[in-house]
Amino acid sequence: ANSVQVDNDIRIRRELITLKDLIGGGQFGNVYKAIYQNPETDEKMTVAVKVCKTDAEPADTQLILQESSLMRNFRHAHIISLIGVCVDSPMWLVIELAPFGELREYLQQEKDWLPNKTLILFCSQICDSLVYLHSTRFVHRDIAARNILVCSPQCVKLADFGLSRALDYDAVYTASRGKLPIKWLAPESVNYRQFSMASDVWMYGVCVWEIFSLGIKPWIGVSNADVIMHIEQGARLQCPDKCPPSFYNFLRNRIWAIEPHKRPTIDQIFGIVCDVKRQIDRN
Ligand code: ADP
Repeated sequence: ANSVQVDNDIRIRRELITLKDLIGGGQFGNVYKAIYQNPETDEKMTVAVKVCKTDAEPADTQLILQESSLMRNFRHAHIISLIGVCVDSPMWLVIELAPFGELREYLQQEKDWLPNKTLILFCSQICDSLVYLHSTRFVHRDIAARNILVCSPQCVKLADFGLSRALDYDAVYTASRGKLPIKWLAPESVNYRQFSMASDVWMYGVCVWEIFSLGIKPWIGVSNADVIMHIEQGARLQCPDKCPPSFYNFLRNRIWAIEPHKRPTIDQIFGIVCDVKRQIDRN
């Protein structure tokens, strides 16, 4: 009945999926652990299935599908991969399972023993995934610890970017959730709704800050309106205890430059992150 256009190779027959435990609920619907039986190899694999809410607008469904096809083309060690989609309502998105869940929760739970080595490893992995996305000219627009999942104690992956882009950003965050992620956004994104590789770089900086803060949210106790004012007056997030000071200065002075063109590219940042990582690994 619906005329949703989609590449056939992205479709998965629903009979091949068995839903298991509920993992969590998000803005688009519930996420379940599930078993997927690959029709070509007959092998069973554990996956995550996002069951999209049935009240989604048809236009949203179309957008989700378009972005899903795009996302399918991204193959990277630190990006959660999309396995396929059961298209008919309720739409199911079948994605790679991250057994250790959300990064923020993981950091909070494991904070007493997590070494700096691991924190910088996570920073380097996310940076690596952005180097890859930016090399394809893809702008993520929602880089934050809440969008990073933990696949193993030594491996994190960027998740879920198809959806945040697919639906109108402002509509999703302001109208339905009242949740424009102001505290993560570059000033030009807040002021002019401009998103670019340079605004991703700013957000990556906030994400690094979250990692070294072991899952604390940025600007706690400060209102959204005050955050942008503070930033324009030159204030920045403070150095987390665990963050090497030289790396913090790089965040503060370069990555969080007010003018987008003054920020380093993600490739330049990757070089710096690798240097910091080597230093930490030596100690
Ligand atoms: P939101 O819509 O708020 O971004 P999601 O729908 O992405 O949330 O996810 C909802 C919950 O499901 C979260 O708690 C997240 O930890 C979990 N989750 C989402 N995707 C995966 C996955 N691939 N592997 C494991 N857990 C996941």
